Amino acid sequence: YATLYIVSTPLGNLEDMTFRAVRILNEVDLIAAEDTRHSKKLLGHYGITTPTIACHEHNETQSAQDLIQRLENGTTIALISDAGTPLISDPGYRLVSQAGEKGIPIVPVPGCNAAITGLSASGLPTDSFIFLGFPPKKQGRLDNFLNDAAHHKATLIFYESPRRVIRLISSAITAFGDRQACLARELTKQYEEFIRGPLSLILSTLGARATIKGECVLFIKGADEQSVDLSLDQIEAMIMDGLNQN
Ligand code: SAM
Repeated sequence: YATLYIVSTPLGNLEDMTFRAVRILNEVDLIAAEDTRHSKKLLGHYGITTPTIACHEHNETQSAQDLIQRLENGTTIALISDAGTPLISDPGYRLVSQAGEKGIPIVPVPGCNAAITGLSASGLPTDSFIFLGFPPKKQGRLDNFLNDAAHHKATLIFYESPRRVIRLISSAITAFGDRQACLARELTKQYEEFIRGPLSLILSTLGARATIKGECVLFIKGADEQSVDLSLDQIEAMIMDGLNQN
Protein backbone atom coordinates (compact mmCIF):
# COMPACT_ATOMS: atom_id res chain seq x y z
CA TYR A 1 0.00 0.00 0.00
CA ALA A 2 1.05 3.60 -0.58
CA THR A 3 1.21 6.06 2.32
CA LEU A 4 -1.57 8.47 3.27
CA TYR A 5 -0.17 11.73 4.69
CA ILE A 6 -2.34 13.99 6.86
CA VAL A 7 -0.83 17.40 6.26
CA SER A 8 -1.59 20.50 8.36
CA THR A 9 -1.68 23.86 6.57
CA PRO A 10 -1.71 27.48 7.90
CA LEU A 11 -4.69 29.14 9.63
CA GLY A 12 -4.30 32.26 7.52
CA ASN A 13 -0.63 33.24 7.74
CA LEU A 14 1.21 31.56 4.87
CA GLU A 15 4.50 31.69 6.81
CA ASP A 16 3.11 29.01 9.14
CA MET A 17 3.59 26.22 6.60
CA THR A 18 6.32 23.75 7.60
CA PHE A 19 9.26 22.78 5.35
CA ARG A 20 8.20 19.16 5.70
CA ALA A 21 4.62 19.91 4.63
CA VAL A 22 5.88 21.64 1.47
CA ARG A 23 8.19 18.72 0.67
CA ILE A 24 5.48 16.08 1.21
CA LEU A 25 2.93 18.00 -0.88
CA ASN A 26 5.53 18.19 -3.67
CA GLU A 27 6.43 14.52 -3.45
CA VAL A 28 3.02 12.80 -3.26
CA ASP A 29 1.16 11.67 -6.40
CA LEU A 30 -2.11 13.30 -5.41
CA ILE A 31 -3.41 15.93 -2.97
CA ALA A 32 -6.93 15.32 -1.62
CA ALA A 33 -8.20 18.79 -0.66
CA GLU A 34 -11.35 19.91 1.16
CA ASP A 35 -11.78 22.64 -1.44
CA THR A 36 -9.48 22.42 -4.44
CA ARG A 37 -10.11 26.04 -5.46
CA HIS A 38 -9.27 27.32 -1.97
CA SER A 39 -6.10 25.19 -1.82
CA LYS A 40 -4.90 26.44 -5.25
CA LYS A 41 -3.86 29.69 -3.56
CA LEU A 42 -1.76 27.91 -0.93
CA LEU A 43 -0.22 25.46 -3.40
CA GLY A 44 0.49 28.26 -5.88
CA HIS A 45 2.27 30.25 -3.17
CA TYR A 46 4.78 27.41 -2.67
CA GLY A 47 4.99 26.47 -6.36
CA ILE A 48 3.44 23.04 -5.71
CA THR A 49 2.06 21.54 -8.92
CA THR A 50 0.88 18.14 -7.63
CA PRO A 51 -2.60 17.23 -8.99
CA THR A 52 -5.52 17.79 -6.60
CA ILE A 53 -8.82 16.01 -6.08
CA ALA A 54 -11.81 17.10 -3.95
CA CYS A 55 -12.50 15.40 -0.63
CA HIS A 56 -15.17 17.48 1.10
CA GLU A 57 -17.89 16.77 3.62
CA HIS A 58 -20.59 16.19 1.00
CA ASN A 59 -18.75 13.51 -0.95
CA GLU A 60 -16.69 12.06 1.91
CA THR A 61 -18.08 8.50 1.82
CA GLN A 62 -17.66 8.14 -1.92
CA SER A 63 -14.36 9.95 -2.05
CA ALA A 64 -12.95 7.89 0.86
CA GLN A 65 -13.66 4.69 -1.09
CA ASP A 66 -12.06 6.13 -4.21
CA LEU A 67 -8.97 7.33 -2.33
CA ILE A 68 -8.56 3.98 -0.51
CA GLN A 69 -8.60 2.21 -3.87
CA ARG A 70 -5.92 4.54 -5.19
CA LEU A 71 -3.78 3.96 -2.07
CA GLU A 72 -4.18 0.21 -2.56
CA ASN A 73 -2.99 0.65 -6.14
CA GLY A 74 0.18 2.45 -5.01
CA THR A 75 -0.79 6.14 -5.31
CA THR A 76 0.64 8.24 -2.46
CA ILE A 77 -1.87 10.79 -1.20
CA ALA A 78 -1.73 13.87 1.06
CA LEU A 79 -4.95 15.02 2.70
CA ILE A 80 -5.26 18.75 3.40
CA SER A 81 -8.15 20.92 4.58
CA ASP A 82 -8.87 24.62 4.07
CA ALA A 83 -6.97 25.54 7.24
CA GLY A 84 -5.13 23.90 10.10
CA THR A 85 -5.13 20.20 10.86
CA PRO A 86 -7.37 17.95 8.72
CA LEU A 87 -10.07 15.99 10.64
CA ILE A 88 -10.17 18.57 13.45
CA SER A 89 -13.68 19.91 12.72
CA ASP A 90 -12.77 19.17 9.11
CA PRO A 91 -13.31 16.26 6.67
CA GLY A 92 -11.18 13.12 6.61
CA TYR A 93 -12.42 10.92 9.44
CA ARG A 94 -13.91 8.23 7.18
CA LEU A 95 -10.82 8.12 5.02
CA VAL A 96 -8.42 7.77 7.95
CA SER A 97 -10.54 5.23 9.83
CA GLN A 98 -10.94 3.06 6.71
CA ALA A 99 -7.25 3.39 5.83
CA GLY A 100 -6.39 2.33 9.39
CA GLU A 101 -8.63 -0.73 9.13
CA LYS A 102 -6.97 -1.75 5.85
CA GLY A 103 -3.48 -1.40 7.28
CA ILE A 104 -2.58 1.49 4.95
CA PRO A 105 0.32 3.49 6.45
CA ILE A 106 -0.92 6.85 7.79
CA VAL A 107 1.65 9.56 8.49
CA PRO A 108 0.61 12.85 10.12
CA VAL A 109 2.59 15.94 9.16
CA PRO A 110 1.92 18.33 12.07
CA GLY A 111 1.35 22.07 11.96
CA CYS A 112 -1.29 24.63 12.82
CA ASN A 113 -4.45 24.06 14.80
CA ALA A 114 -6.67 26.94 15.96
CA ALA A 115 -7.61 25.31 19.30
CA ILE A 116 -4.03 24.67 20.45
CA THR A 117 -2.66 27.91 19.00
CA GLY A 118 -5.29 29.99 20.81
CA LEU A 119 -5.06 27.97 24.03
CA SER A 120 -1.34 28.65 24.31
CA ALA A 121 -2.00 32.41 24.55
CA SER A 122 -5.40 32.33 26.27
CA GLY A 123 -4.05 32.72 29.80
CA LEU A 124 -6.33 29.87 30.96
CA PRO A 125 -5.12 26.57 32.46
CA THR A 126 -3.50 24.35 29.83
CA ASP A 127 -2.72 21.27 31.93
CA SER A 128 -6.05 19.78 31.00
CA PHE A 129 -8.51 20.89 28.32
CA ILE A 130 -11.52 19.56 26.44
CA PHE A 131 -12.07 20.32 22.78
CA LEU A 132 -15.82 20.54 22.11
CA GLY A 133 -15.65 21.66 18.46
CA PHE A 134 -18.67 23.47 16.96
CA PRO A 135 -21.60 23.58 19.41
CA PRO A 136 -25.13 22.73 18.16
CA LYS A 137 -26.92 25.52 16.29
CA LYS A 138 -30.41 25.03 17.76
CA GLN A 139 -30.89 26.84 21.08
CA GLY A 140 -32.38 23.86 22.97
CA ARG A 141 -29.58 21.55 21.91
CA LEU A 142 -26.99 24.21 22.64
CA ASP A 143 -28.32 24.62 26.19
CA ASN A 144 -28.22 20.86 26.80
CA PHE A 145 -24.73 20.65 25.32
CA LEU A 146 -23.46 23.42 27.61
CA ASN A 147 -25.23 22.02 30.68
CA ASP A 148 -23.54 18.67 30.02
CA ALA A 149 -20.17 20.43 29.91
CA ALA A 150 -20.71 22.50 33.08
CA HIS A 151 -19.09 20.00 35.48
CA HIS A 152 -15.80 19.58 33.58
CA LYS A 153 -12.81 20.97 35.49
CA ALA A 154 -10.68 21.21 32.36
CA THR A 155 -10.57 24.32 30.15
CA LEU A 156 -13.34 24.12 27.52
CA ILE A 157 -12.63 24.92 23.88
CA PHE A 158 -15.30 25.79 21.30
CA TYR A 159 -15.15 26.70 17.62
CA GLU A 160 -17.84 29.13 16.53
CA SER A 161 -18.75 31.34 13.60
CA PRO A 162 -18.66 35.10 14.25
CA ARG A 163 -22.43 35.22 13.54
CA ARG A 164 -23.22 32.94 16.47
CA VAL A 165 -20.49 33.79 18.97
CA ILE A 166 -22.55 36.32 21.00
CA ARG A 167 -25.29 33.75 21.41
CA LEU A 168 -22.75 31.12 22.48
CA ILE A 169 -21.29 33.45 25.11
CA SER A 170 -24.67 34.47 26.53
CA SER A 171 -25.79 30.81 26.63
CA ALA A 172 -22.50 29.94 28.35
CA ILE A 173 -23.14 32.57 31.05
CA THR A 174 -26.52 30.96 31.67
CA ALA A 175 -25.03 27.46 31.86
CA PHE A 176 -21.77 28.17 33.71
CA GLY A 177 -22.08 31.56 35.42
CA ASP A 178 -19.59 34.34 34.71
CA ARG A 179 -16.43 32.27 34.35
CA GLN A 180 -13.02 33.45 33.20
CA ALA A 181 -12.67 33.04 29.46
CA CYS A 182 -10.79 34.11 26.36
CA LEU A 183 -12.00 34.79 22.84
CA ALA A 184 -9.31 34.36 20.17
CA ARG A 185 -10.17 35.93 16.84
CA GLU A 186 -8.32 35.93 13.52
CA LEU A 187 -5.41 33.86 14.85
CA THR A 188 -2.12 34.34 12.96
CA LYS A 189 -3.72 37.03 10.76
CA GLN A 190 -3.24 40.78 10.56
CA TYR A 191 -6.08 41.62 12.96
CA GLU A 192 -5.42 38.84 15.48
CA GLU A 193 -7.15 39.63 18.77
CA PHE A 194 -7.50 38.08 22.23
CA ILE A 195 -10.23 39.25 24.60
CA ARG A 196 -9.48 37.85 28.06
CA GLY A 197 -11.64 38.20 31.17
CA PRO A 198 -15.00 37.09 32.56
CA LEU A 199 -17.56 35.97 29.95
CA SER A 200 -19.63 39.10 30.69
CA LEU A 201 -16.69 41.33 29.71
CA ILE A 202 -16.18 39.49 26.42
CA LEU A 203 -19.92 39.78 25.78
CA SER A 204 -20.01 43.53 26.42
CA THR A 205 -16.83 44.09 24.34
CA LEU A 206 -18.36 42.28 21.38
CA GLY A 207 -21.79 43.79 22.02
CA ALA A 208 -20.30 47.27 21.58
CA ARG A 209 -19.22 46.47 18.01
CA ALA A 210 -21.34 47.02 14.92
CA THR A 211 -20.20 43.72 13.41
CA ILE A 212 -18.04 40.81 14.46
CA LYS A 213 -15.82 39.51 11.73
CA GLY A 214 -13.29 36.74 11.46
CA GLU A 215 -12.99 33.25 12.80
CA CYS A 216 -13.29 32.70 16.54
CA VAL A 217 -12.27 30.19 19.18
CA LEU A 218 -13.80 30.51 22.64
CA PHE A 219 -11.97 29.20 25.72
CA ILE A 220 -13.79 28.93 29.04
CA LYS A 221 -12.19 28.04 32.36
CA GLY A 222 -13.39 24.74 33.80
CA ALA A 223 -15.55 24.40 36.90
CA ASP A 224 -13.85 25.10 40.19
CA GLU A 225 -14.88 25.12 43.82
CA GLN A 226 -14.79 28.90 44.04
CA SER A 227 -17.18 29.48 41.14
CA VAL A 228 -20.06 31.69 42.25
CA ASP A 229 -23.58 30.43 41.74
CA LEU A 230 -25.49 33.29 40.16
CA SER A 231 -29.22 33.73 40.40
CA LEU A 232 -31.25 33.67 37.18
CA ASP A 233 -31.95 37.42 37.60
CA GLN A 234 -28.23 38.18 37.85
CA ILE A 235 -27.52 36.13 34.74
CA GLU A 236 -30.29 37.82 32.78
CA ALA A 237 -29.09 41.27 33.82
CA MET A 238 -25.54 40.38 32.75
CA ILE A 239 -26.64 39.22 29.31
CA MET A 240 -28.87 42.27 28.79
CA ASP A 241 -26.02 44.58 29.86
CA GLY A 242 -23.74 42.97 27.30
CA LEU A 243 -26.25 43.13 24.47
CA ASN A 244 -27.41 46.69 25.25
CA GLN A 245 -23.94 48.07 24.62
CA ASN A 246 -24.76 48.03 20.91
N1 SAM B 1 -8.96 22.23 11.03
C1 SAM B 1 -8.96 23.52 11.66
C2 SAM B 1 -7.99 23.52 12.83
O1 SAM B 1 -7.09 22.67 12.87
O2 SAM B 1 -8.09 24.37 13.71
C3 SAM B 1 -10.36 23.95 12.05
C4 SAM B 1 -11.34 24.00 10.91
S1 SAM B 1 -12.96 24.47 11.36
C5 SAM B 1 -13.88 24.16 9.89
C6 SAM B 1 -12.93 26.22 11.31
C7 SAM B 1 -13.01 26.84 12.71
O3 SAM B 1 -11.72 26.82 13.30
C8 SAM B 1 -13.44 28.30 12.70
O4 SAM B 1 -14.84 28.45 12.73
C9 SAM B 1 -12.80 28.81 13.97
O5 SAM B 1 -13.58 28.45 15.10
C10 SAM B 1 -11.49 28.02 13.99
N2 SAM B 1 -10.44 28.76 13.27
C11 SAM B 1 -9.86 28.42 12.10
N3 SAM B 1 -8.94 29.36 11.75
C12 SAM B 1 -8.96 30.30 12.73
C13 SAM B 1 -8.25 31.53 12.96
N4 SAM B 1 -7.36 31.96 12.09
N5 SAM B 1 -8.54 32.23 14.07
C14 SAM B 1 -9.47 31.81 14.96
N6 SAM B 1 -10.16 30.67 14.79
C15 SAM B 1 -9.91 29.93 13.70
